[in-house]
Amino acid sequence: MNISSPNNSTLNKAKLNLISLLFLLTLISGCSVSDSDEKQEAIAQEEIPVEYIKLTPTDFRTRIAEAPIAYLPLGTLEWHGEHLPLGSDGMQSFSFMKDLAREVGGIVLPMLYLGPDMMMAEGEKELYGMDFWLSLEEGRTYMTPQQLDGSAYWVPDELFHQIVEHSIKQLARAGFKIIVAHGHGPSTRHVIAHWKEWEEMYDVQIYTCWSWNIRGENDQESSEKSNREGLGIMTDHAAMNETSLMMYYYPDLVKMEQLSPDTSRWPLAVAGKDPRLFASAEQGQSAVEFQLERMTKLLREALQRKP
Ligand SMILES: [Zn+2]
Repeated sequence: MNISSPNNSTLNKAKLNLISLLFLLTLISGCSVSDSDEKQEAIAQEEIPVEYIKLTPTDFRTRIAEAPIAYLPLGTLEWHGEHLPLGSDGMQSFSFMKDLAREVGGIVLPMLYLGPDMMMAEGEKELYGMDFWLSLEEGRTYMTPQQLDGSAYWVPDELFHQIVEHSIKQLARAGFKIIVAHGHGPSTRHVIAHWKEWEEMYDVQIYTCWSWNIRGENDQESSEKSNREGLGIMTDHAAMNETSLMMYYYPDLVKMEQLSPDTSRWPLAVAGKDPRLFASAEQGQSAVEFQLERMTKLLREALQRKP
């Protein structure tokens, strides 16, 4: 603020004084409110990044002091029907986690694209997860076991275990107290199977974004909403839920026209409710809003618990 104006006219001086007074009043009375509003706005517009790779050490120190939460999006490069991108798993969890970080605080890691899954050796060939999973389901959808185009993510459980375990160790060392890992089903289930031992090893709290089966959380209502109404985060495979989330976050990347319009024919390696009949961006938005509210509450409670 320049208060030694070279202009000596009384009128201009009076104007300047008025402006200075208003400026000072704003500083005194509205400082904290306008600061926090501006901050929220800046985060919303990504001026203050929530992504780990975009932070300077100063940004990092600020964000981790506010909320020591690390978000680990568990992705794949995996067939998600003819209509969705191969990176759908990481993209959904990454986008949801960015929304969550803007709401609760914390830092979002780059997405992992390697993950575990069921594996079946067929002659020389290895088949993974969706390559053959639906062929195992009785009375529902049948498909011939086959290598689905574009899938390139599979690692054995032991290697995935090492990757996640060392990530948690590194994150705890960097100062995080809460870790949210979520995405690809088998990756998330692996975290659920081992969260307790990792919590004890590294003195952190671990969460996924599913509304069941971690730390005895028995949120019956949320689970039912997630399952029956499709309001979960990644609860099927390229069907209503995942397609809706992708339509909401990445509308330009969803190519429904690449699925047959004949709904009597089931789309290849899609599991859940028919995306052609039930998926929409609105459905995706409802799921995100419902789960944001649920996860925000959960993580705020976790922050209270942190040592
Ligand atoms: Zn998926």
